Amino acid sequence: MFTVNAYAATSATAPLTPTTIERRDVGPHDVLIDIKYAGICHSDIHHARSEWGPTTYPVVPGHEIAGIVTQVGSEVTKYAVADRVGVGCMVDSCRECEPCKRGEEQYCQNGNTLTFGSLDADGTLTQGGYSTHVVVNDDFVVRLPEGIGLDEAAPLLCAGITTFSPLHRFGAGPGKKVAIVGLGGLGHMAVKFAHAMGAEVTVLSQSLKKMDDGLRLGADHYHATSDPATFEQLAGTFDLVVNTVSAKLDLDAYLGLLAVGGTMVNVGAPAEPLSLSVFSLIMQGRTFAGSLIGGIRETQEMLDFCAEHAIGAEVEVISADKINEAYERVLASDVRYRFVIDTSTLG
Ligand code: NAP
Ligand code: ZN
Repeated sequence: MFTVNAYAATSATAPLTPTTIERRDVGPHDVLIDIKYAGICHSDIHHARSEWGPTTYPVVPGHEIAGIVTQVGSEVTKYAVADRVGVGCMVDSCRECEPCKRGEEQYCQNGNTLTFGSLDADGTLTQGGYSTHVVVNDDFVVRLPEGIGLDEAAPLLCAGITTFSPLHRFGAGPGKKVAIVGLGGLGHMAVKFAHAMGAEVTVLSQSLKKMDDGLRLGADHYHATSDPATFEQLAGTFDLVVNTVSAKLDLDAYLGLLAVGGTMVNVGAPAEPLSLSVFSLIMQGRTFAGSLIGGIRETQEMLDFCAEHAIGAEVEVISADKINEAYERVLASDVRYRFVIDTSTLG
């Protein structure tokens, strides 16, 4: 074991503080990564504040990790020292269940191991990317293409794959009208991907404050959901609505925006239950779906798609002492469009 610097939440209400954590020694199938950047996902905040159920503290959040390989285990053939690599939300899974065999480790039937806050094989709790180094099994490491900066690559590991996967699965492409609800970390990636896939893209944001950005990122249209006219004007329009909002929404209002047979997929994960009237679905043959990140193979495909289309996240790089401030700004929807921690500032 060795000790590394990190930033941890110690309770649901206290600010995150500097700390040290132990990383395991590099095993035969492990990769040691010198973390350069770690994105701040809204899920980090939900977890750090026990919003999804009781969290075990202290916890080091962070599942958008970009860095450089500094050591590999004796059995590792896929990666070598100096490779640019990433780690997302998972660090292990059973590899034997049907979803794992299909490459959908996020739906592992025997319980995958998340990058932080999960019980690891050695009985310890996993600790995430707000740290200087991490040791990860090579099956859960992905290669970052040249041409994408490590800072703008970090958010691809969660915000990127979480939006790429449902857009791909539900057929975003030429001739399809796609709406993205919420222009935050996930939302801005969804706009870039849906545009690059060839869809006609509409942003549905609370206000028009970020309209210039939305259009620059690839949206064709931009509407404020605070204006009731938006829901009348766009009724029955979309083939696909991707909801990235971290808070409770009036689902019926958004389902009403779907065309006949359209799908609304929820990736936003508010703690409160969402409710809907089944008539919003049955009368126009609509579907309401959910989606969790994406598998490892699909994450690599997403990264290769990013390289091909010159896509990275729009980031605001911060030093570690600004993490608590960044959390408040994310909660106030004041993020353009992902905070990324420069881990060299962890001391
Ligand atoms: P984020 O950067 O905070 O973006 C969320 C956006 O939602 C905000 O920028 C805001 O956009 C909108 N919003 C916030 N509060 C709202 C409210 N009360 N009413 C309407 N709109 C509101 O968060 P994120 O990192 O993108 O994550 C979004 C959600 O996805 C979180 O719940 C997170 O836990 C979840 N998530 C799920 C997965 C998955 O696998 N399914 C993976 C990662 C994250 P506007 O300012 O444009 O309105
Ligand atoms: Zn995330």
